Amino acid sequence: MSETIQLANLIDGRIVPPVLDRWLDVFEPATGKVFARCPASTKNDVEAAVEAAQRAAPAWAETAPDERSRLMLRLADLLEQELDSLAELESRDNGKPVAVARRIDIPRAVSNLRFFAAAITQWSSEAHLTNARTLNITLRQPLGVVGCISPWNLPLYLFTWKIAPALAAGNTVVAKPSEITPCTAVRLAELSITAGFPPGVLNIVHGEGPAVGQAIVEHRQVKAVSFTGSTRTGAAIATTAAPMFKKLSLEMGGKNPAIVFDDFDFSETNLATIVRSGFANQGEICLCGSRLLVQRSILDVFRERYLAAVKALRVGDPRDPSSDLGALVSKAHHEKVMAAIQTARNEGGRIAIGGNSVHVGGRCADGWFVAPTVIEGLDSRSRTNQEEIFGPVVSLIPFDDEADAIRIANDTDYGLAASLWTRDLGRAQRMSARLDFGIVWINCWMSRDLRTPFGGVKNSGVGREGGSDALRFFTEARNICVENG
Ligand code: NAD
Repeated sequence: MSETIQLANLIDGRIVPPVLDRWLDVFEPATGKVFARCPASTKNDVEAAVEAAQRAAPAWAETAPDERSRLMLRLADLLEQELDSLAELESRDNGKPVAVARRIDIPRAVSNLRFFAAAITQWSSEAHLTNARTLNITLRQPLGVVGCISPWNLPLYLFTWKIAPALAAGNTVVAKPSEITPCTAVRLAELSITAGFPPGVLNIVHGEGPAVGQAIVEHRQVKAVSFTGSTRTGAAIATTAAPMFKKLSLEMGGKNPAIVFDDFDFSETNLATIVRSGFANQGEICLCGSRLLVQRSILDVFRERYLAAVKALRVGDPRDPSSDLGALVSKAHHEKVMAAIQTARNEGGRIAIGGNSVHVGGRCADGWFVAPTVIEGLDSRSRTNQEEIFGPVVSLIPFDDEADAIRIANDTDYGLAASLWTRDLGRAQRMSARLDFGIVWINCWMSRDLRTPFGGVKNSGVGREGGSDALRFFTEARNICVENG
């Protein structure tokens, strides 16, 4: 496996190198070594992809939902048949444990395709009989060519989360995965050809955000952009796309609270879920609860059990089934997370556990590993408690009562997801109505039903994805009013 993997674009049904023959190194986070080369595509490649997508758009829009669904289900089956190798590839590219990719990333990518393949066969428009003579019909039609741009943390999972509803709704797609984790998207491209998608329906252009992403966003023929990534990039995309009156769905950063009340059910499962909500995928999930709010009356007992559970987490080679955490995605991200830990120290925070890079050794001697870190003693307004770190770092914050918990939880520019741990249903209802977040989980975390709206408020997002919200985003509603003489 020492050979460098050569990646390529998917344009007009063919796997092709970038027009300008420029390439980016792709690193294996666990080893710090280059293992693949990804196209550093340019405007030229995006132009070719959009042209192909435009050519394919009319026929794809007219393809019966049943047939679109059939192709998507076939693609889902092909991905599922390669579950093991795709999980290994995702882990190699991203640094996450193979077991995590096998249990979460790849199965959820398969589910995304299956869910929207089924949903489109059940999708219906409305008709309103206004009076005896007047019938109003709502048509939901595909937009044409749409752009999908995704991040590195859940590569295939989030890539398919966008592509699946876009294709199901009858759009043709120009998509760009993260240049940091491009590998599984290339396999998806190859399998889409095997599945029988007509040329130009799905196009995948690899490369850097400011080159390829920007070219997709600013292309006049791209009618809508669905983006998941940082708030900073989302703002840059909005700056370009909003004055062009494009439809925009922006899923961005988070600084999520996990709120534990003193009537919390201290079961092993619940404690394990709270630990997972901070450290799953090395804390590189937008939904991770990086601010752990604990009611002061149980702080000591909770802290002791929580820290013991965090201490038991094993950082190691992502290939090792006993590793709970793998490597951070890149050297730059490793440095960013370590700098954030230093900021916490400078602000007067105490490191209750972790706070250091981990030397794994062996083939991973040069990998980018960080110990699960818990910080305490910092005010809600500190940088540590305000800025997204996106690594295995949790800040422990005590609170006194419900009002205090709401105040601290909402004291952020972000509003993606909150989790709430209590046995008091009345409190759960009161709190969830007042928590300023797009998702509130009660006594659970990251439990997903694909029919539900997904997205954040404030700086975490604009628009909703998932279920019929995604199909609505990827269609234009038109009103046809028929009057009978
Ligand atoms: P990023 O914003 O750096 O990159 C995301 C994607 O945008 C990449 O494909 C990148 O190449 C592209 N891009 C960069 N500049 C661009 C530009 N000017 N125009 C168009 N595209 C551009 O984000 P990242 O570092 O890959 O991912 C981490 C971030 O994603 C975190 O902030 C995390 O919270 C967020 N995230 C959010 C969700 C969600 O559902 N809300 C899910 C996962 C990750």
